[in-house]
Amino acid sequence: MSSNVVSTSELTKLDPVFGQFSYDDHEQVVFCHDKDTGLKAIIGVHSTVLGPALGGTRMWNYRTEWDALNDVLRLSRGMSFKAAVTGLDLGGGKAVIIGDSRRDKTKELLLKFGEFIHSLGGRYYTAEDVGMETADMDLIRDVTPYVTGTSESRGGAGNPSPITAYGVYMGMKAAARFKYGSDSLKGKKILVQGIGHVGEVLVDLVSKEDAVVTINDINRERLEHVSDKYQCKIFEGADIYDSEADIYAPCALGATINDDTVYRIKANVIAGAANNQLFDEYRHGNILRDRGIVYAPDFLINAGGIINVFSELEGYDKSVIKQKTENIFNTTLEILSHADKHGLSSHRSALQIAQERIARRKPSK
Ligand code: NAD
Repeated sequence: MSSNVVSTSELTKLDPVFGQFSYDDHEQVVFCHDKDTGLKAIIGVHSTVLGPALGGTRMWNYRTEWDALNDVLRLSRGMSFKAAVTGLDLGGGKAVIIGDSRRDKTKELLLKFGEFIHSLGGRYYTAEDVGMETADMDLIRDVTPYVTGTSESRGGAGNPSPITAYGVYMGMKAAARFKYGSDSLKGKKILVQGIGHVGEVLVDLVSKEDAVVTINDINRERLEHVSDKYQCKIFEGADIYDSEADIYAPCALGATINDDTVYRIKANVIAGAANNQLFDEYRHGNILRDRGIVYAPDFLINAGGIINVFSELEGYDKSVIKQKTENIFNTTLEILSHADKHGLSSHRSALQIAQERIARRKPSK
């Protein structure tokens, strides 16, 4: 390589923050440190063009601080596009606290973190994410109003998972309509991977439509509980990516669509709740398109949760939350048609629509 050509890995070393793919024009990144409580947190404000940046706080024992930075940037960017594509007047942000939530989460640490959020003056609103609970949001509420996901007794919107599942169900039906010409899931073989808070409600919804449901989880106890409750099969094969299904619903972890799985998946439709399902959003999105697999973009169809917390800022009631979540059906259909028309992957198409909405709202220079 000639001396004036810089490789991507070198670039990441030279420009470890602004040069990262996920930095993607973040407006602001705030490093929060407090020696007394041990707080080490990063708040990413990706965009406030459409409204205040809203996104949860994740508390995780990151291997390195770079991992924490990369995670917050990636998640924060994703929130901007999730809000934009869903039609919400919200920006995108996210926060991470470095530490083990079971060991390191103290009242003092959370209150100090709340003060940092407060110092942003409403540019960023937090909510729950992995390692955080409603009670933590209630605590943070004591030092700042810039928090959502508080308990219903404190004016919050409560548990977002049922409404998230409902949105995923809407997205799945739209994808089925696009692929099969009908949104009915009756008789469709649906594989639900991860039957936690969202997955279980999704199993309930699709079972009521007489879909043929198979479930998979690493938690045997939950598998038996959900299987008994909804009369569905437990996946017993060696590898779920080799199994026959019409619809695959990833509701556990991200990045399950990767080099190892993308050519093995047999389903015609992918629609699930997990964030960041595509390991490489461009390459794997294109491979799914080329294979004729209809992929309902994750950040669009799992937006029920953010619609739910947004209601706390807007003051709208449960019927409006339901109606906005139901609209995920129409938006998914629109995006699948747009992708088809322009030869794009559905993920790319959803991103483009979100980016255009943000660009239209930017004040002209
Ligand atoms: P959860 O923790 O309640 O459930 C996840 C389930 O996945 C658990 O039962 C767990 O045992 C299982 N699991 C973990 N690893 C697995 C593996 N390798 N194979 C199979 N199963 C595995 O989480 P949740 O709240 O139901 O959220 C599910 C997904 O949806 C997550 O990726 C989350 O980020 C995303 N999401 C959730 C919401 C929400 O409102 N809860 C909103 C948007 C996105």
